[in-house]
Amino acid sequence: MLYGSTRNAGVSVSSSQAIARGISEDGGLFVPLSIPALRSSDFETLCSLDYAGRAQRILRYFLSDFTVQEIDDCVKGAYQAGKFSSKAVAPLVSLGDNTFMLELWHGPTCAFKDMALQLLPFLLTTAASKVADDKEIAILVATSGDTGKAALEGFKDIPNTKILVFYPQDGVSAMQKLQMTTQEGGNVFVCAIQGNFDDAQTGVKAIFTNRQMANRLSENNMMFSSANSINWGRLVPQIVYYISAYCDLIAKGGIQNGDPVNVVVPTGNFGNILAAYYAYQMGLPVHKFICASNTNHILTDFLKTGTYDRNREFFTTISPSMDILISSNLERLLFDLTGKDDQKIKAWMNELYSTGQYTVDETVKLKLNELFYGGYCDDMQTRSAIKSAYQKYHYLCDTHTAVALKVYEQYKTETGDQTPSIIVSTASPFKFSDSVLEAVSNEQSTNLKDFDKLNTLSRITGVEIPLPLSQLSSKKVRFTSCCTQETMETFVTDSLGI
Ligand SMILES: *Cc1c(COP(=O)(O)O)cnc(C)c1O
Repeated sequence: MLYGSTRNAGVSVSSSQAIARGISEDGGLFVPLSIPALRSSDFETLCSLDYAGRAQRILRYFLSDFTVQEIDDCVKGAYQAGKFSSKAVAPLVSLGDNTFMLELWHGPTCAFKDMALQLLPFLLTTAASKVADDKEIAILVATSGDTGKAALEGFKDIPNTKILVFYPQDGVSAMQKLQMTTQEGGNVFVCAIQGNFDDAQTGVKAIFTNRQMANRLSENNMMFSSANSINWGRLVPQIVYYISAYCDLIAKGGIQNGDPVNVVVPTGNFGNILAAYYAYQMGLPVHKFICASNTNHILTDFLKTGTYDRNREFFTTISPSMDILISSNLERLLFDLTGKDDQKIKAWMNELYSTGQYTVDETVKLKLNELFYGGYCDDMQTRSAIKSAYQKYHYLCDTHTAVALKVYEQYKTETGDQTPSIIVSTASPFKFSDSVLEAVSNEQSTNLKDFDKLNTLSRITGVEIPLPLSQLSSKKVRFTSCCTQETMETFVTDSLGI
């Protein structure tokens, strides 16, 4: 299978090239130029396998220049090495009322980013061995919290790679900071930066595009790469869990093979929900994609009006991983809905860059509205959704998942739709114990220390704290460096020893 660029129809590269390069030279994103179609019998075969088996089958369609053995090795390294606390890897939990939670946070960092970032290092090193002369890969990440830790865990001690993560000194939660500064592994480097997430991101981009740096790396047989969700290697592992959830739903007797389902996704960069769309294109019978946002509801507005407008206030919410005004992966969906019209996409993205907005045409808007429902809720509604899920189902969910639950409720009230629905649960509630504790206990927890909050939440609810979080309290802090945007480069060259 070949991959093109959303901004240039002339591009055609292999999956290894798409993964190793990360982004196309024209600034577009790599997209598969055809989508494999699964028949009913293919679903039956997939359903007879465990999670790793399903992943191997599905990846074979998309990574056609990888050998079967290579894919199997990558998948085993990611999902079979005991790194996920659930044997099912991505278990589906029934709440009753035709509502099912797809729990994607049983990996080493307790957020759904692990589903892709446990696999990406293997895909990337395999791809580099094919198309990049086995150069050593230096991954640079600017993070606002979850991605940095998940990337560190994924790349830790992976041969032929080094990973460097920059986080804003005062811009991540105490738990997230501790997760990163105690990171183990011989090839990992973590540095705080004085400034906010944008400063870290700008600094990383500047290093990526610095020719001198690129030459210096090249002289040392190294290359830079990126682990963020514009890389196809981060999207393709996410297709798997939608198909896997469908199989599990059949097994639970919730549906029969071929019956439609809804998927409800708490959305930020549009990566997770886009993976569901690719699964749909492969034949997964999805009735509606329900796109849930927080107070930064740029996507809700876009689905309603057809205008994507980032000229608006940015809000900091209790679901921080969805605090985003540029949903990069939307570009891939639009490319598909315009019938692969690269010139149109290029024009819209240029408009977004220069004026902060663009408007899609009527046919695209109609298609969007046929498939997608958009909704949002604020922090207060998020807390009340956590509380009512806990009271009604005794189900404890995190702040991001709560946004999805709330929007799903709005959807059902508005439409009366009773289709069985898969709600994507993206993080452990203990990762955001501050807000979750407040929601279920009605008390302010600000006077408690971080680990006391975890313990209190666990005591009140009877839910166990995930091991990777409880173990943090006894881990040694390894990384204390702090730099400025100007000295990031020095941190990179020192860490890489070049
Ligand atoms: C990253 C993240 C999201 C948003 O996912 P996208 O793929 O960016 O839409 C939602 N919830 C959590 C907990 C996350 O870490």
